[in-house]
Amino acid sequence: MKRWVRGCYQSEGYSFAKSAAEVRKKHGLDRIARLASNENPDPPSEAALKSGTDALIHANRYPDERQAFLHEALVAAHGDYPFVTGVGMDGVIETTIRTLVEPGELVAISTPTFSFYRLSAIAQGAGVVEVPRGPGFAVEPVSFIEACEEAKLAFLCTPNNPTGNATSPAVIREILGQIECVLFLDNAYVEFSAFDYLPLLKEYDNLIIGRTFSKAYSLAGLRVGYAVVPEWFRPYYLRAATPHTLNAVSAAAAVGALSDLPHLERARTRVQRLRKELTCRLGYPVMPSDANFVMVDVAPLASDEAVDRLSRMGVLVRSCRSFRGLEDHYVRVSIGADWENEMCIDAFGRLNS
Ligand SMILES: *Cc1c(COP(=O)(O)O)cnc(C)c1O
Repeated sequence: MKRWVRGCYQSEGYSFAKSAAEVRKKHGLDRIARLASNENPDPPSEAALKSGTDALIHANRYPDERQAFLHEALVAAHGDYPFVTGVGMDGVIETTIRTLVEPGELVAISTPTFSFYRLSAIAQGAGVVEVPRGPGFAVEPVSFIEACEEAKLAFLCTPNNPTGNATSPAVIREILGQIECVLFLDNAYVEFSAFDYLPLLKEYDNLIIGRTFSKAYSLAGLRVGYAVVPEWFRPYYLRAATPHTLNAVSAAAAVGALSDLPHLERARTRVQRLRKELTCRLGYPVMPSDANFVMVDVAPLASDEAVDRLSRMGVLVRSCRSFRGLEDHYVRVSIGADWENEMCIDAFGRLNS
């Protein structure tokens, strides 16, 4: 039956983290440190739980297609910008490509990076230009700008997944000043960095900034993403999106989450503290990170071998083998709860014994 399936879906797909329940059962462990998906280990904020539950009562009705409450809450949190929403930022990425890119046109990305830009572009018939990052995984503006000359849309992830480093607003400005295509800046982890990219939206009308409730806001399971966009882009995005994209419960929970600043602040301070501790005590080279994860060099072990050994000790981390443009000796480790960080440091200490 495979012959009926489109070519782009016959080979590879998105790589998911291993299931914690399966690993626990397979190795007879009591506790699993879930450090493979960059989630917030805290449960959702009480305010998110309350507004989500309240919305569930009205689930017989279609959601407000304008997502007016979420839009208002985003304006209150970030300022008076146009926003669009999607089923996770993944949904926003897919719809943005559908809005802007014709089959056969090119999408530029800066590798190694988040895999879904490429998968989604290819699935929609676009070509992909991969621009390798330079030393320290820094974006090299000259080669990136050059790739943008042929592209319709470019993706840049800052802080970058899986390397963790951020690209400064100054470099983004340098790039924006010299390109004609649209730049999608992926800010999935921006809450953990010191940079603020939103002011750039006032200067450039070819910039889209993607954000998510999945990481800092503890709502990964509800799939809420959004983007801050130029005014001209919004009506076209809405035409390209599926009707009633975001469900009412998720949208309401997101409004609650935005109102709980202490919940966000706890995540931020914990990440800063534990990231420092992990970096000092892991015993392996850790790349400098502005995100809630770090990339670790486990050479001479291969990525998958390290992930396998760690999972037998109850620590789930992400192998970086599937990230294109990266040598095969890195793993990505999320900053979890205090006890998970301790378990992780302990497991890395026994990685070669
Ligand atoms: C997690 C992640 C996303 C998507 O998150 P959603 O759960 O779909 O909102 C987007 N970009 C990067 C870089 C990510 O790591």
